[in-house]
Amino acid sequence: MKENDPLDEYRKKRDFRETGEPAGEGRHSSAQPVFVIQKHDASRLHYDFRLEAGGVLKSWAVPKGPSTDPGEKRLAVPTEDHPLDYADFEGIIPEGSYGAGTVLVWDIGTYRNLREKDEDHPMSMAESITDGKVLVWLEGKKLQGGYALVRTNMGGAKNWLLIKERDRQADARRDPVRSEPRSVLSGKTLEEINAEAAGKGDKG
Ligand code: MN
Repeated sequence: MKENDPLDEYRKKRDFRETGEPAGEGRHSSAQPVFVIQKHDASRLHYDFRLEAGGVLKSWAVPKGPSTDPGEKRLAVPTEDHPLDYADFEGIIPEGSYGAGTVLVWDIGTYRNLREKDEDHPMSMAESITDGKVLVWLEGKKLQGGYALVRTNMGGAKNWLLIKERDRQADARRDPVRSEPRSVLSGKTLEEINAEAAGKGDKG
């Protein structure tokens, strides 16, 4: 095993004989980096915002989910790096496992890193995270346009804020977390995924 594998914490928290989540053994980085937002009904409902960088998915848990209103600041708490193949994980994490509950892929797409050191020199995602400000352009199915993730000093250094940039894709009235609850992969709601799993359980 490699030293300082960014996925150590992810793997330590999980028993892959129990959970159907990927162990992250296969790596396939994409030509364009991906972002994914997973709706996760665990002990508390939240949205996991993930950005591909350095061969993993850098991750934040966003309790209220993303907004399309630039006036809304959404708390985003960093969580452990996830493997790239987590991006299309959808289903049920079994009772007793870390993060037990139902997951659906709420939005997925590619992104561009917008941060620059100066006019001609982009700032890497790793540098942006260290610097406490991430700026990305999302090309998702539900979310498009600029989003900022900004580290705050409130409540310790743990807390970040997810904020929509003021651009043509901003829309204060849209509220997609409320109006567009379904998976962009399967078209299912959390309730439908649960009902399906319960039905399979009866037959098995
Ligand atoms: Mn989660």
